[in-house]
Amino acid sequence: MKQITVDAYSKVNLALDVLGRLPNGYHEVHMIMQQLQLKDRITVKKTGSGRREIILTTDKDGVPLDYRNLAFQAAQLMLGLEELTEGVHIHIEKHIPIAAGMAGGSADCAAVFIAMNELFDMKLSTASLCRLGAKLGADIPFCIMGGTAVAAGTGTNITKIKGLNPEKYFVLVCKPSQGMSTGAVYAKYSERAGEMILRKHPDIIRLVGGLTSDSGLEILKKDMINVLQYVTAEELTEIKEIIYIMERKGAEHAMMTGSGPAVFGIFRDSQKVAEAYMELAEIYEETYITGFR
Ligand code: ATP
Repeated sequence: MKQITVDAYSKVNLALDVLGRLPNGYHEVHMIMQQLQLKDRITVKKTGSGRREIILTTDKDGVPLDYRNLAFQAAQLMLGLEELTEGVHIHIEKHIPIAAGMAGGSADCAAVFIAMNELFDMKLSTASLCRLGAKLGADIPFCIMGGTAVAAGTGTNITKIKGLNPEKYFVLVCKPSQGMSTGAVYAKYSERAGEMILRKHPDIIRLVGGLTSDSGLEILKKDMINVLQYVTAEELTEIKEIIYIMERKGAEHAMMTGSGPAVFGIFRDSQKVAEAYMELAEIYEETYITGFR
């Protein structure tokens, strides 16, 4: 039976700023999102049972296999759209660290939208898929579009831009053993909003200009700031330790992605990234060398 396999790429934020709170309670953000080569693989096929059912399987512990999984929710939405009396079996080959700030669940969800659009020949445009995706999570439209983008509003308003040259850099990802939920990070940030205004914020427009004109990292990194890191790095000391090790080992820049806790370092030199990997992998199980996409 026909099956579709789609790559589900992780992301990091090259910058993340919180502008305030919207009337609906969501935070208004301004971010630069960048896909990495580190990815899950999603395979979708029809079950052939003639019943509307969703069967989820995975090769990794800790991934929910019911409605809590964003891939499940995407399938439910797609089956409902055409009132299909068909079932799907979705297999998630999981490589993206879970609850890391790397949009793993959102990437899997986006991949299911793309795969089912093809499997059922639904002919939905990318814009339509993004609108559907936004119903399930703020990062999903970006995961559908891919590449590098500025995200505004709650994160669903996406404009594609030019990213860093993938040929020039290695990316080292390291996930601390301690974590903090996305909700808790934003709540802490809001509590300290007055103080946070006084901290250094990224100039996103300048960063987009720098990326477009191929400025070197030396210039770009002044605006590669994630304001949520001000909160998490105080709560989770491993974040500072990982950044310190990456920089000591020769990273051009190191910072936290999303609401964390994963940290990524950008390296030019293959030897240096390998040495940093060896030191961090001894301490942190989830350490990966990857690249930009
Ligand atoms: P984001 O960067 O979008 O905030 P994240 O990388 O921090 O996401 P996920 O890996 O998506 O976080 O996982 C967050 C939680 O979502 C997990 O604890 C898990 O229970 C749930 N989840 C839902 N769908 C998935 C999925 N497909 N893969 C992994 N976790 C999922």
